[in-house]
Amino acid sequence: MAKNIQAVRGMNDILPDDEHIWEFFEQTVRQWMVVCGYRNIRMPIVEHTNLFVRSIGEVTDIVEKEMYTFTDRLNGDSLTLRPEGTAPCVRAVLEHNLLYTGPQRLYYSGPMFRHERPQRGRYRQFHQVGVEALGFSGPDIDAELIVICAGLWKKLGISDVCLEISTLGSIEARTVHRSKLIEFLEKHLEILDEDSRRRIYSNPLRILDSKNPEIQQLIGDAPGILDYLDNNSLKHFEKFQKMLLDQGISYKINPRLVRGLDYYNHTVFEWVTDKLGAQGTICAGGRYDELVEHIGGKPTPACGFAMGVERLLALIVKSKKEIPSHVPDVYLIHQGEATDRFVWTTVSYLRDQGIKVILHCGGGSFKVQMRKADASGARFAVIIGDDEVNAGLISVKPLREKAKQVKIELTEVGKLIKNFGARNAFQSS
Ligand code: ATP
Ligand code: MG
Repeated sequence: MAKNIQAVRGMNDILPDDEHIWEFFEQTVRQWMVVCGYRNIRMPIVEHTNLFVRSIGEVTDIVEKEMYTFTDRLNGDSLTLRPEGTAPCVRAVLEHNLLYTGPQRLYYSGPMFRHERPQRGRYRQFHQVGVEALGFSGPDIDAELIVICAGLWKKLGISDVCLEISTLGSIEARTVHRSKLIEFLEKHLEILDEDSRRRIYSNPLRILDSKNPEIQQLIGDAPGILDYLDNNSLKHFEKFQKMLLDQGISYKINPRLVRGLDYYNHTVFEWVTDKLGAQGTICAGGRYDELVEHIGGKPTPACGFAMGVERLLALIVKSKKEIPSHVPDVYLIHQGEATDRFVWTTVSYLRDQGIKVILHCGGGSFKVQMRKADASGARFAVIIGDDEVNAGLISVKPLREKAKQVKIELTEVGKLIKNFGARNAFQSS
């Protein structure tokens, strides 16, 4: 027998039993983004490799070891499955000249790909919702993005998340901080692991984000960017905080917050939870004033964030929020010589009214079909046999409530099902 082919490691199927949670999440996000005035943009899943190398930075986890990169056999192009959405979003905005008409408030969602070691909350194909505001220099829009997140958590029924913020300052402040940081790290070379040693001159800031516990301990004593902020950076950061306080949003300043990507400056933030074990960051973002120019556009300030959908869904499930799943209204049972036409008419008629109908297929006795109707979870069995066809009526049997089966006109069925629950024709007197 042929060996079963399984899904690629770290890439998950999303099964129908979880459909309702995904749908609830996606609908809530969509409605909330519309309410907040952000418009949807959809980019391809594959981009030219250079886009990511140039924007994310060569000396980052993503570019060094996590990208799914391959050569297009037909023309030799180097292509990459997108590991994140900001660079593709900016690429699309520039390619279609969207900034010509003014600043853009955008959001997107979809799968991202990173070749990481799979574990709970960390997958090779995972999903993000990303929000990007391009053409705004902040800090008001920085604060707005936080307010948008906070509002979304509320709509999703998520509590137990904390906001951590920091600033990376201006490019000038970063340069000073960087040299101080390198000086510090040079004194502790023996503690650094191979990755960090390699990055000490190319991307020292990234070492602050190391997951290695020994390095994390060392980092506690490293010079922090907050001590090197220039006036403008400080003002930006203070205004941002004031707006959060005005909105009643509490936060913690975490001076060791850095972003994995190279292109951030000023405001950075993460929403974290202690409810998900090691993978506790559910949303991360910040300001990236340099990126647009870096990808080839005119200098354009910008700010954005991305949330990890799988981690958010895990939190939603933990919150025990009741999310209704799709229950069929009707399981349609039918048998007999002349029922076919009547059955099709009934199915179309009910579905046209938005009634969820499962049509029994594959024949079998009424008894067998009734068992299937029961197992389907449907609220009603609609029964069509020769008797019904002859009388021009339909039998409707409530399956979940104690009530009588009735025989009625097709045009009455929809009304009856929709109004069921109030006192009605079903209830035995
Ligand atoms: P980490 O430090 O956990 O590796 P990151 O800095 O690489 O995170 P970002 O690039 O900022 O993550 O992505 C934004 C969010 O996307 C993360 O906060 C997380 O919720 C989610 N995310 C990132 N990588 C994965 C993954 N491999 N699987 C599931 N979710 C992920
Ligand atoms: Mg990562």
